[in-house]
Amino acid sequence: MSKEGIDVLLAEKRTFPPPKEFSEKAHIKSMKDYESIYKRSVEDPEGFWSEMAEKNLTWFKKWDKVLEWSFEKPEIKWFMGGKLNASYNCLDRFIKTPIRNKAAIIWEMDSGGYRTYTYQQLYYEVNRFANILKKHGVKKGDRVTIYLPMIPELVIAMLACARIGAIHSIVFGGFSAQALRDRIQDCQAKLLITADRGVRGGRFVPLKANADEALHECPNVEKVIVVKRTDPAIDMEPNRDIWWHEEMAAHDIANYCEPEWMDAEDPLFILYTSGSTGKPKGVLHTTGGYMLFTNLTFKWIFDYHDEDIHFCTADIGWVTGHSYIVYGPLSNGATSLMFEGVPTYPNPGRFWEICDKHRVNIFYTAPTAIRALMREGESWVTRYDLSSLRLLGTVGEPINPEAWMWYHTYVGKGKLPIVDTWWQTETGGILITPLPGAMTLKPGSANRPFPGVVPVILKENGSPASVNEGGYLVIEKPWPGMIRGTYGDPENKRVKEVYFSRFPGKYFTGDGARIDEDGDYWLMGRIDDVINISGHRLGTAEVESALVSHEAVAEAAVVGYPHEIKGEGIYVYVTLKEGYQPSDDLKKILVGHVRTVIGPIATPDKLQFAPGLPKTRSGKIMRRILRKIAKGDVDDLGDVSTLADPSVVDELLKGRL
Ligand code: ATP
Ligand code: MG
Repeated sequence: MSKEGIDVLLAEKRTFPPPKEFSEKAHIKSMKDYESIYKRSVEDPEGFWSEMAEKNLTWFKKWDKVLEWSFEKPEIKWFMGGKLNASYNCLDRFIKTPIRNKAAIIWEMDSGGYRTYTYQQLYYEVNRFANILKKHGVKKGDRVTIYLPMIPELVIAMLACARIGAIHSIVFGGFSAQALRDRIQDCQAKLLITADRGVRGGRFVPLKANADEALHECPNVEKVIVVKRTDPAIDMEPNRDIWWHEEMAAHDIANYCEPEWMDAEDPLFILYTSGSTGKPKGVLHTTGGYMLFTNLTFKWIFDYHDEDIHFCTADIGWVTGHSYIVYGPLSNGATSLMFEGVPTYPNPGRFWEICDKHRVNIFYTAPTAIRALMREGESWVTRYDLSSLRLLGTVGEPINPEAWMWYHTYVGKGKLPIVDTWWQTETGGILITPLPGAMTLKPGSANRPFPGVVPVILKENGSPASVNEGGYLVIEKPWPGMIRGTYGDPENKRVKEVYFSRFPGKYFTGDGARIDEDGDYWLMGRIDDVINISGHRLGTAEVESALVSHEAVAEAAVVGYPHEIKGEGIYVYVTLKEGYQPSDDLKKILVGHVRTVIGPIATPDKLQFAPGLPKTRSGKIMRRILRKIAKGDVDDLGDVSTLADPSVVDELLKGRL
C-alpha cells in the first residue's frame, strides 16, 4: 500500500455485460464504437465538438472559432462568435415538427394528480412569461432569482429567462430565508419569482413568507412574481408583489417573444453547489457549451429515443434537475417527468407507483433515495408493474455495491443496465459514466470518461497513480459544459484558487478515485474525507460500502478523528434498517464484519448508532459535521445553512462516544 495515493480496500468482482437487445438499439452499441468515438474526441476535440454542435443544436449564426482555453488563467471559451438561444433550442425548433403535440412535461403532483404540457403549450407559456419579464424591466444580463417548488412554472420561468437573455439563479425551495437572502445578494438579482407555498409530502412550505423575510435585506429586488399554488392568505406588498396568474391572463401580453441572440459564451445561469464540503460556490454556466454538453450527454448516456418517458427524481434546484429534467431532455424533444413530492409520501412505493402509472422508460435517482427505500423493504417495489423501464441511473454520491445490487435486482429485475454517473455542479453535465449499450457494469464503478473528457488520477506529488492506486481525480482538458467562473469575479480569482491551483494547469475535482486493471473508474469519496491511519490513506466510500453490505445496516458514514497511536482512528456512524435495535453485540458484529470484508486496517475504532445522518438538502452525507462531532469540536460546526434537518445534529451529539 502506498502512502501517497489512497489505499484501495474493496475488491468488487461482479460484472454485468450490456444486454444484447439493449445494445442493438443503442446509440453507442459496443466498446469498439465507444473507443473509436473517444479516440477521435481527444485527438481532434475541435472537430468532434463542432460536428456535434452542428448536428445537435440550432444556431442563429455559426461560430468563428471552436475553442480557446487556458487552465493557467483560467479562461475557457467554446464556439466563440456563435449565436443561439437555449429556449429556442428547447421549444421553437420543435413546434414546426410533429413533436409540438408531444408531452414536454408531465407534472406529477404531490397529491397524486398530474398535468401535462405539450411542446406547443409550453412554448405558449414561456413566450408570454418572457414578455411579462420584459414588461417589468428585466433585460439581457439581468439576474432573476427563482425560488419555487417543483411546479411547471419553474420550467416556464427558466426558459423565459433564457429566452430574453436574463441569467437565472434557482434557489432550492427547501432552503431557508437566510440561504435565499445570501444567494440573492451574491448575484444582485433584480426580480424574484416565488410561490405562496409549496407542497411536499403533504406538508406546506411557506415560500412567500421566507421570501418576505429574505427581501428585508435585498433592496436590489424590485419586483416579486408570485405563483398561486395552495391559496392561503398571504401578504402581498403593494408596488412590489404581483400574481403570476393575473399577469399571464392580461390581454395586452403578446403570445410571441423574439428569442434573444445570445453569444455562445453569454451566461445562461448561476447555481450554487450543495455545500457538502464547505460554503456553497456560485457556479456560472454559459449558453453554447452547456447546451451542447447536456444535450449530447442526455442522448448518449440515457440512450434516449423519441418514444421514451424520462423521470429524473432530482429537484430542479440542483444541477441534476437543470441538466437532466430541463435542458438536456427538452433540447432533445423528450418527455420529461417532474415530481413535486418526496419518495416516501404517501408511502415508500411512490417512485414505483409513478413509473407504473406513466409507463416511465428511464429512471434517474440518487443513492441516498435508494438506501432509504431499501430500508423499507422490496415489497414496495414488487407490487408495481415496472415493465416499461429500460434504463436506470444514479448520481450524487458513490453508490455502495449493495445498494446497486438492490436497485438492479428489484427495480431492474436483474436485467436493466444502471448508469452510475459522476459529475458536479461545476461540470455542467456528466463526465464519467457507463454508456449502457457498450459497457460492462461493475457495481460501484462509474466506468469511463464521456467522449471529450480527459481525466487523470494523480498522486500527492502530481505524478500519475498506477493501476488500482487511488489518488486525486483531475481533468486535463476543457469540455463544453464546464464552469466558466463565479458571478461577480471577472478575473476568475476564486475559480483559480478552488479548481486550478492544487495541480496548476489542471481542473481539480476534489474527489478521490482509482482506475482498475480494465480501465474503469471507481470514485472513492471526497479528498476532504480521506482518513490517514498509520500512514495509510483510506477513502471513506469503501468502508461505508462494507458496512452497508451487512443486512442490519441502512446507511453508514465514516470519518477520521485524532488517535494517539495511529494518527487518525476510524469513527463510524451507523443507521439501522427497520427491525434492528442498537446493542453492544451488534456493534461487535459490525466491527467484525468490516474486518472480514476489508481487513484489519479498516477496523472501526468507534461505532455510534444514529437514528439519522446529517445531510445536505440535496441528500448527501455531510461528513465535515460528523468529523467535528467525532473530534469533539462542536462549538463551531461551520456553514450549516445547507443542512436538511438540524435536529439530527443534536441527536448525534447526545450519542457521541
Ligand atoms: P460542495 O461543492 O459545496 O461541497 P457538492 O460537491 O456536494 O457540494 P454537487 O456539485 O452537487 O455539490 O456534487 C458534486 C459531488 O457529488 C462530486 O464532487 C462527488 O463528490 C459527488 N458525486 C456525484 N456523483 C457521484 C457519483 N456517481 N459517484 C460518486 N460521487 C459522486
Ligand atoms: Mg463540490
